[in-house]
Amino acid sequence: MKAIVYHGPGDVRLEERPEPEPGPGQIRVRVATAGICGTDVGEFVHQPHFFPIEGQHPHSGHLGPTVPGHEFSGWVVATGPEVSGFEQGDLVAVGAGVSCGACAPCLAGTTNLCIYYWTVGLHGDGGLAELAVVPVSSALNLAGSPITPDLAALAQPMSIAVHAIRRGRVTEGERVVVIGVGGIGTFIVRAAASAGAAATAVDIDPRRLEVAGRLGASTTLDVSSGGIDEIDGEPPDVVFECTGRPESLIRAVSLVADHGRLVVVGHQPEPVAVDFRQVALDELELIGTQAHVFATDLPIAVDLLAADPGVWAIVAPNVYPLDQVVETGLIPLARGDAGQIKLLFDPALQSPRPFDTGV
Ligand SMILES: [Zn+2]
Ligand SMILES: [Zn+2]
Repeated sequence: MKAIVYHGPGDVRLEERPEPEPGPGQIRVRVATAGICGTDVGEFVHQPHFFPIEGQHPHSGHLGPTVPGHEFSGWVVATGPEVSGFEQGDLVAVGAGVSCGACAPCLAGTTNLCIYYWTVGLHGDGGLAELAVVPVSSALNLAGSPITPDLAALAQPMSIAVHAIRRGRVTEGERVVVIGVGGIGTFIVRAAASAGAAATAVDIDPRRLEVAGRLGASTTLDVSSGGIDEIDGEPPDVVFECTGRPESLIRAVSLVADHGRLVVVGHQPEPVAVDFRQVALDELELIGTQAHVFATDLPIAVDLLAADPGVWAIVAPNVYPLDQVVETGLIPLARGDAGQIKLLFDPALQSPRPFDTGV
């Protein structure tokens, strides 16, 4: 089968690979649509943090060159032993996070914090290939759903947003600011708007802000030349910091209202000096968010995508063939000039096609 394979920073190739065999509790899917995100770009640009190139991953058991792709959809083509509830031809959305189901965090319902957690496409082979093997615990069966395979490939980033919104306890009528509306912030804007919040999108890229506006941001603020101080009205109840930039996190602490919540979404490359005196005096809450809880967040994500399918083509107007992952995906995303918010790939393609919303 054709597969994209990560060998190291700057070394991602399209290769012929053996077809993966599903083991107990696993299914093999023919990949329909697979996305890449900032995590993949980070691995491409820097040393690998996730792909177990040099040392075996303790939970996945994977070692060596890795097929990326942790945001994808596909059709079931084979089932391994001990699999029920999946038939050949079923469309699935892959949540990608694999949890054990038996440790204390899993039993508490926080499967995203499973002590044996690993992610398909980060710690083991993923979906940027013609075929992928996935544990059924990370595959949501969409058989009978009207959702298209392209939309289903957005379920994973949407569920990250759903989880962040739950962590931030966003409620109707609240004022929300999302700093950085790229591959995750865009979806957070949508999830916040769906929760009935008034979301302000902040970014330096006018094209991203236009997308955020179309997806439900009530206000957009371009900070490419000015500061974030131009946000008018009352201070926000909840701020989502999605850029991972230190100055943005520091600014977010002073931006949020007294008693407000700051949800740290973007990953800071280094520890940041935050003004904890202000956190104390203003009774702020600093909230972390990690991946998503498969059982809770992924079905909500699919519902949000299905609620207004026609709007989603704007985040990924074109879907590309696998051989364009580096040139059209990783390199432009690393430069910050990718032509669309999400870069999606369809292993069956020879040339690009439009995103299929089903509408
Ligand atoms: Zn991702
Ligand atoms: Zn567990």
